[in-house]
Amino acid sequence: MKTIGLLGGMSWESTTGYYRAINEGVRARLGGLHSAKIVMHSVDFAPLEKLQHAGDWDGAATMLCEAALSVQHGGADFLLICTNTMHKVAAPIEDAIDIPLLHIADATAEELVKHGITRVGLLGTGFTMAEDFYKGRIRDKYGIEVLVPDENDRSLVHRVIYDELCLGKVEDASRQEFLRIIADLSAQSAEAVILGCTEIGMLVGQSDTAVRLFDTTAIHSAKAVDWALSD
Ligand code: GLU
Repeated sequence: MKTIGLLGGMSWESTTGYYRAINEGVRARLGGLHSAKIVMHSVDFAPLEKLQHAGDWDGAATMLCEAALSVQHGGADFLLICTNTMHKVAAPIEDAIDIPLLHIADATAEELVKHGITRVGLLGTGFTMAEDFYKGRIRDKYGIEVLVPDENDRSLVHRVIYDELCLGKVEDASRQEFLRIIADLSAQSAEAVILGCTEIGMLVGQSDTAVRLFDTTAIHSAKAVDWALSD
């Protein structure tokens, strides 16, 4: 079994989801007392969030490159960045390390392709929904059209992520708003919706809606188990 490297803490609320899903995945595949071999570096999210909102992506990249190197030095065979948003600086992180990066947008898009999805809605932070580092990769590499909510709804989703979910607050009023936005994306002909922020699965799940959901935390974790158990 390979050792999985996790760059976590963004937020730790969602990193716990990775830790559980990866260990459950290894137990389901190997049985008994088997569990995943994991090296994790969990950052302090507060200074990172300040860098994000100040637009200092070079500063954020420097912080995450150091953390990624510590995961590599700890013996990880490959790396997961446990957040969609920070894949904005995936390229410098990949340059800094010698082990492969399991990119969250690739893991997600491969799953969409497997299910024959050609037009998908995307929920995530304002950065992930508005910029091209994530949507563009799914569109250009996999030929999948990506729809995002309008500006007001993008602000709402962004606010709920940072002011509630990353703090462990799960509010029913926010769940209703997310379900409305998911239904709107479906009405605009999205065949499915990506939960493109690793905390959103805390708020909405497949049992809440008939619209097909692709939860990036679950998909990324399952792919990590595949990589860890493959030759
Ligand atoms: N976990 C989130 C994501 O998947 C947001 C927190 C962050 O900014 O990294 O995008």
